[in-house]
Amino acid sequence: MAKKICPDDRWSWVEVDLSALRRNTTAFKRSLARGVRMMCVVKAGAYGHGAVRCVNAMHTAGADQFAVATVEEGLELRRAGVQWPILILSQPPIESVQTLVENDIMPCVYEPDFALALGEAAAAAGRVAKYHLIVDTGMTRIGVMPADAVELRRTIDFHRGIECAGTLTHFATADVPDDWDFALQLNRFRNTVSALRDAGLNPGLVHCDNTPGTVLHPECQFDMCRVGIGLYGLQPAETTVGVIDLEPVMSVRGRVTRVVYPEVGAGVGYGMTYRVPKRNVQIATVPIGYADGLSRTLSNNMDVIVNGQRQRQVGNICMDQFMFAVDVNTTRTYCPTPEVREGDVVTVIGADGDERITADEMARLRGTINYEVVCGFGMRLPKVYV
Ligand SMILES: *Cc1c(COP(=O)(O)O)cnc(C)c1O
Repeated sequence: MAKKICPDDRWSWVEVDLSALRRNTTAFKRSLARGVRMMCVVKAGAYGHGAVRCVNAMHTAGADQFAVATVEEGLELRRAGVQWPILILSQPPIESVQTLVENDIMPCVYEPDFALALGEAAAAAGRVAKYHLIVDTGMTRIGVMPADAVELRRTIDFHRGIECAGTLTHFATADVPDDWDFALQLNRFRNTVSALRDAGLNPGLVHCDNTPGTVLHPECQFDMCRVGIGLYGLQPAETTVGVIDLEPVMSVRGRVTRVVYPEVGAGVGYGMTYRVPKRNVQIATVPIGYADGLSRTLSNNMDVIVNGQRQRQVGNICMDQFMFAVDVNTTRTYCPTPEVREGDVVTVIGADGDERITADEMARLRGTINYEVVCGFGMRLPKVYV
């Protein structure tokens, strides 16, 4: 099956299962309270899955709005004809206001100078630019401090070129059950929204839940949820496992470009960190490297799946290729390991037969989280949508 979908010009690819993506999106949409909107987070090229194709699939499955991280990511969607609301989850450089207005891309705002520049650019174009007010309720990343939110709105609201379409905050510990810091952030957010309303200021759409928040804290869905990692079928934390069922969307595969039976003692790869220990060991090469998101820290410490069986990656992972070893044990008659051949499909992430390597397994080996694993594979590998 996987053999047919290989790109013609490169024997390695990211496989994106759009029907799984749609099912995950629908599962989240159904989990929201009635009337709550769903903002699908497609920053970093939809977490490595390719933003444009994912946005269109998510929209058919119930997405209302989309969030990106940078102006460039917003432009990519607009250029591809995406017409639904797009929010940038940061306040971009002030020099970008014209581009935001021309392309109807909403920024987050926390500084008056930026808001007024946005208003000027919009007014000059005869438009009204929408923005979302972002509040730093405790993550200490970006946003206006809760005590300054009303004042900020009062400073900028006179401008007829801007309109506050939303008010948001972001949780640092939404995945931790019964967490005091989470409760504190939520409390500060509620109070800020109330203060805005008491001052006669319309907060627009109120939103704060990310994936773990949406799953574990349905009581703070407010008007909208911002769902990211879950849409791609990955659990944001141990604590959400079993609460919502999700299907992984990304597989990473390559095809064997060469196979040899080296002599005993032959070194493999830069630094020769692996040496062939005995006879009847095949060394096979796959054109995926650290420039494709396969971290070099995994060298000599990860498996791949070939013909339904796990094999050990060996030698240092190169920029564009890696090698793996196959112990072709000809004496084991019950379950002999077949020889690997040029062109065989190698699975780095995903399922092959009864075996599966998850982004979580790779994240554990790397000492990171599944988010970073899938983002990395989005860097250079061609994407194949199935
Ligand atoms: C990335 C991000 C999200 C989505 O987070 P997930 O954990 O992937 O759901 C939501 N809101 C903000 C502000 C973000 O930066």
